Amino acid sequence: MPLVAVLLLIAALLLVACGSGGDAGRSPACPPGVGRGLWDLPWSEDTPADEAAGRLLENPDFGATPQAARDLEAGVVDERLVAVLRTVTEEHRVCVEAFKEGHSFLPGVPDGPRIPEGYGEAGGLPNTHYFGRAADVYWVDGKSVAGNATDPDVLDVGRVLAQIPARRRPDQIIGPPPWTRALGYGRERGWVLARDQLELHEDHLHLGYMDEGGTRNAR
Ligand SMILES: [Zn+2]
Repeated sequence: MPLVAVLLLIAALLLVACGSGGDAGRSPACPPGVGRGLWDLPWSEDTPADEAAGRLLENPDFGATPQAARDLEAGVVDERLVAVLRTVTEEHRVCVEAFKEGHSFLPGVPDGPRIPEGYGEAGGLPNTHYFGRAADVYWVDGKSVAGNATDPDVLDVGRVLAQIPARRRPDQIIGPPPWTRALGYGRERGWVLARDQLELHEDHLHLGYMDEGGTRNAR
């Protein structure tokens, strides 16, 4: 059998296998073409540097762009963040657009250890993305965060985050203004409420840890 035919047969079998798993109607965690969704096989064959990160990558409810997947494989993503994403994917499908690689606050300005001046009032503060301590989630359960800030599933991701013990929960949670308002969590729970920051997060959820160890959550 020619190779092409073999590949087509394998693809057909995969489709059948996925379709019969009781998950009919589920869409991949990332939109088609964005990255590592259910259909974007084969995945990289590199051995993940970190086992927890590897397990996250294997989770069909987790999606990542190629740049985000490379960060996980390289082991540059903070283990607290990996654990939080695994917790969130127990209830929702999420797609991470960027951890460190490919993240930029301002178009054409490469990321460094500090947030560039010009990015609202946060300019000059430590850049948690640069240290692998932040994730940007642009899609939840197949829906873009943009335009769906108060969708029940997108809101529920916030509630799942709020239930994570304070010492493990991100202390830099930023989302669209209506998402933040509807949830009503405050700074002590890890939510950033600065208006200019919310306006810079109309289209994604930012989950970050301000410090290398511990969190600044009060409870
Ligand atoms: Zn971010």
